[in-house]
Amino acid sequence: MNSKRKPGPDDLWFLPLGGCGEIGMNLNLIGHNSEWLMVDCGINITSSPVPNAQPLIEIPNTEFIDQQKNTLQGILVTHAHEDHFGAISSLWTRWRCPIYALAFTLSVIQRKALIRGLAVPENLVEIQIGSTNQYGSFSVIWHPIAHSIPENCGLEITTSAGKIFHSGDWKIDRSPQIGEPFKSKRFAAIGQRGVDAFICDSTNAQEPGNSLSESEVEPTVKRILSHEKGRVIVGCFSSNIARINTIAKIATESGRYVGLLGRSLAVMVDCAKERGYFDPSIKWIDSQHIGYLPRDEVLVFATGSQGEQGAALTKLAVDLHPAMALDAGDAVIFSSSIIPGNEVVIERLFLKFEKLGIHVFHPGNVDSTLHVSGHPCENDLRQMYQLICPNVVIPVHGEEVHLGTNADIALSCGVNKALLGLNGDLFCISPEPRVIKGFANTGRLPLPDRRNNNDT
Ligand SMILES: [Zn+2]
Ligand SMILES: [Zn+2]
Repeated sequence: MNSKRKPGPDDLWFLPLGGCGEIGMNLNLIGHNSEWLMVDCGINITSSPVPNAQPLIEIPNTEFIDQQKNTLQGILVTHAHEDHFGAISSLWTRWRCPIYALAFTLSVIQRKALIRGLAVPENLVEIQIGSTNQYGSFSVIWHPIAHSIPENCGLEITTSAGKIFHSGDWKIDRSPQIGEPFKSKRFAAIGQRGVDAFICDSTNAQEPGNSLSESEVEPTVKRILSHEKGRVIVGCFSSNIARINTIAKIATESGRYVGLLGRSLAVMVDCAKERGYFDPSIKWIDSQHIGYLPRDEVLVFATGSQGEQGAALTKLAVDLHPAMALDAGDAVIFSSSIIPGNEVVIERLFLKFEKLGIHVFHPGNVDSTLHVSGHPCENDLRQMYQLICPNVVIPVHGEEVHLGTNADIALSCGVNKALLGLNGDLFCISPEPRVIKGFANTGRLPLPDRRNNNDT
């Protein structure tokens, strides 16, 4: 057992306090030269087994870093998904260190804090995509990489004891609709600089083949809209701005106004408008006016594609939404996946709409692509391992089975070593790659401030 609690000048450590052995609640620490850098600080959201109850929101146990907060150089936030930033507004007062992120991510952090009735974190520092920045002993390049949200980053972290490439969440997409298309040169160059450890997203490691491009959704939605004569409601993840832009553009081309129902959609769309991500031709309409438009002039994005209690889609399905009511012949398109665990509640939602005579389209009943994932499948992983050529891979962002599959893929691509472990295990990268089990206490804790957390 290593009794050392702090990394020395020859050490390069990786310590996950969340997100390793689970999907959600990512909180990673990188240690070197008596200093720590935090990558992401997310929450876990579990739907309650009790009908009509609020979902359970949890944060990682951070006592390890709380006890040495003066050594924390900052929090680097890779992107604006709740499992990567959601705990910051509840926890930042413990550390009061700088919080670094790109403009869109910072904007989402600020607005979500306000919605939750929490103080907006101080020390928010905007980073430019592609820039190199020094945080204590760590030099970090913020690389653009496709996912399912704008301004997503992978981090190239260099210290005198070695180099890490932390992928964050990613996929290979040559036509992501927003942001830089995949450039193999960018990642080959990282590999040429010599990567000791590649900390890599494992979510879809068990999916064979290549991940599908965001551009593949457009023809399917076009085809559906060309047949629909009534109102069209679209359920998709609020943060998928490329998807919202694509569908809103198609709606505008077919003479429809575009509305939004649900607070989390309004927040994300506002942040994206601020950054100029929407096509200027889109005819947005205030939600209170939607109900007065002719049916064939309406397309509305609505929250609740996971069947969340109190969200707009759930209210529409039982005719309890104050802004509009649906009629037989209207359509609901689910341009989203089913998060495991939500199957029953989503199936019930489909049935409620169908009973009202509403056309329901979802990835399970449409032949062409209606949703694509933002995570790498097997071939994406293979391609990236061949470009980055790391000495060691550390699979993260997955349950044990996903981590194991990702490790096998890496080894079959010629990576020397895969380090497997869970939250609280210490992954030593330098001087010698190895895992020390149970180095730090971890666990899930209820979010300390539950005020107004249901922002669907
Ligand atoms: Zn993500
Ligand atoms: Zn994630």
